[in-house]
Amino acid sequence: MKIIAVGMNYPSHVKEMTDVLSPEPVIFCKPDNALLLNNKPFFYPDFSKDIHYETEIVVKINRLGKNIAEKFAHRYYSELTVGIDFTARDLQKRCKAEGLPWEIAKGFDNSAAIGKMVKKSVFADMQAIGFHLDINGMTVQQGNTKEMIFSIDQIISNVSKYFTLKIGDLIFTGTPHGVGPVKINDKLQAYLEGELVLDFKIK
Ligand code: MG
Repeated sequence: MKIIAVGMNYPSHVKEMTDVLSPEPVIFCKPDNALLLNNKPFFYPDFSKDIHYETEIVVKINRLGKNIAEKFAHRYYSELTVGIDFTARDLQKRCKAEGLPWEIAKGFDNSAAIGKMVKKSVFADMQAIGFHLDINGMTVQQGNTKEMIFSIDQIISNVSKYFTLKIGDLIFTGTPHGVGPVKINDKLQAYLEGELVLDFKIK
């Protein structure tokens, strides 16, 4: 399986980062070693002093597809959840400044935490789903898929031009504003609408 992620997909987050809107989704990948499942703890890596959370809707691909038309994209996933796209912001800044790829800042071990999958049939409209992250009981980030620049179907269509999508692939669909640092002993709890789907600690 592979993990594909979209950057800069909420206007409010674009503003806090660069203020430059991209005409196409900004896509990057994380290797499979990035996956962090079953509410296992995230161990703060020693190569960074500025690990950030980015709270995102994650969809799971359920059939093989290439060059998927936007109008058929909804057939390619049936479950979603909330995930954390952990980012070593200090490494990312350095890589960006030097014009280098920033995989090491995004694809390191356990940098893709994902929650319990929820059937999409629970939701009336995929582009009106609220989600939020609490750290130590305080809400630090919230978003709604209606704010996305590129919808989930547009992302699937765009990504599948470049990467054949396979069963089990995961797509992180971008973070709203409010990204910030985590520290050791933080407790992270992510909610899809009202449901707690991800609950783990930083160690
Ligand atoms: Mg992200």
